Amino acid sequence: MIIQLQPDITDSQKEKLISKVNESGYKTTEVKTQLGDYIIGIGKNEFDIRRIGQMDGIQDIHIVSDEYKLVSKKWKAKPTSVDLGDGVFIKDGEMAIITGPCSIESEDQIRKVVNHCVENGITMMRGGVFKPRTSPYAFRGMGIDGLKLWHSIASEAGVKIVTEVMQTSQIDEMYPYVDIYQVGARNSQNFNLLDELGKVDKAVMIKRGISGTIEELLQSAEYVFSGGNEKLILCERGIRTYERASRNTLDLNAIPILKAKSHLPVIVDPSHGIGIRAYVPQMALAGVMAGADGIIYESHEVPEKAYSDGQQTLDFAQSARLAAWIREIFAKRKTFELL
Ligand code: PEP
Ligand code: MN
Repeated sequence: MIIQLQPDITDSQKEKLISKVNESGYKTTEVKTQLGDYIIGIGKNEFDIRRIGQMDGIQDIHIVSDEYKLVSKKWKAKPTSVDLGDGVFIKDGEMAIITGPCSIESEDQIRKVVNHCVENGITMMRGGVFKPRTSPYAFRGMGIDGLKLWHSIASEAGVKIVTEVMQTSQIDEMYPYVDIYQVGARNSQNFNLLDELGKVDKAVMIKRGISGTIEELLQSAEYVFSGGNEKLILCERGIRTYERASRNTLDLNAIPILKAKSHLPVIVDPSHGIGIRAYVPQMALAGVMAGADGIIYESHEVPEKAYSDGQQTLDFAQSARLAAWIREIFAKRKTFELL
C-alpha cells in the first residue's frame, strides 16, 4: 500500500494515520522525496482502503501488490520526466541520445567528443572516469580530475554528463560535476550505493545487472526512490546468457515490459548489449522500435585506439549517421499504433 501525504499534514494527523495502518497489521515506512511524502505499508491482511481513506492529511492512496511499489505504474500511471536543466529531458515521448567513449582518456579526447556531440545536436555525453574492469591490470579511468576537466569543457558547450559512480565515497566528490550518476551493471544490486544515491538530488540511471532480472532492476530502482530520489532512469544493457557469439544478449523484451510495469523512462545500451561495432546501429534502432525513451552508445574519434571497449565503439561518422537514424526511426515509430 502507498499513501501519499498532503504537504501540509500535521504531525498528529500523521501519527494517527500510521497507527491506524499499523493496527491493521501493516508495517509502515515513511519515504520523503523531492516531490512527495509517502507512507509505504507492507502487510498481508485484506485491507479496505475506505477504513483510512477519509482520514485527514491523505492526498492519494493505492494498494500496489508488486514487490516494487513507488516505481510501479500501478502507483503512478503518468510517465516520469527526468529534467536535467537547460531544456534537456529524458522522458516518454522524446528520444534521448547519449554518446561518448567507454572511458574518458584525455583533454584532447574530451574536446573531440564534445564537439562531435554539439555538431550533431546531442546534448548528453557518456564516459567513465571510474571504470569497473574485469581485469585489475586494465585502464581504470582518470578519476575525479578527469571528471572536473570534462565538466569544464562540457558545461561550456551545454552538454550534460553521464558517468558511472562505483562506490558511496565518490558520490559527494562527483556531485558538482555530474548530471546523471550511472550505476553500472556490476553495481546494480549494490544496495548501500543505491541507498546513498537516494539521498542525492540528481538523476540516477540504473543499468540492469549482468544476470539481473527485470524485477530485480525495478527493485533496485525502488531502493533509490524510497531513499528519497525520484529522478530515475532504467537502462537495459544486455544480460549474460549461454550465448557466446555476442558479448551479452540485449534483451529487447525488457523494453516494453519495463515500460508497462513502471512509469520510469527506459533507455537502451546496444554497445554493451551486443558488443560488436558493426551491429550496434541495428540493435540501437531495434531498441527505438521496441519503445525505448533513449539510446546510449559508445563513440570515439579512433575506436581502435580507445583505452577500453574499442570493439563496440563507433567512430564519429558512424555515430553521426546513427544519431540521424535514431531520430528518423523514432519519428516513424509514432505512426505505428502499438497495442
Ligand atoms: C559502461 O557503460 O561503460 C559500462 C561499464 O557498462 P556496464 O555497467 O553496463 O557494463
Ligand atoms: Mn564500455
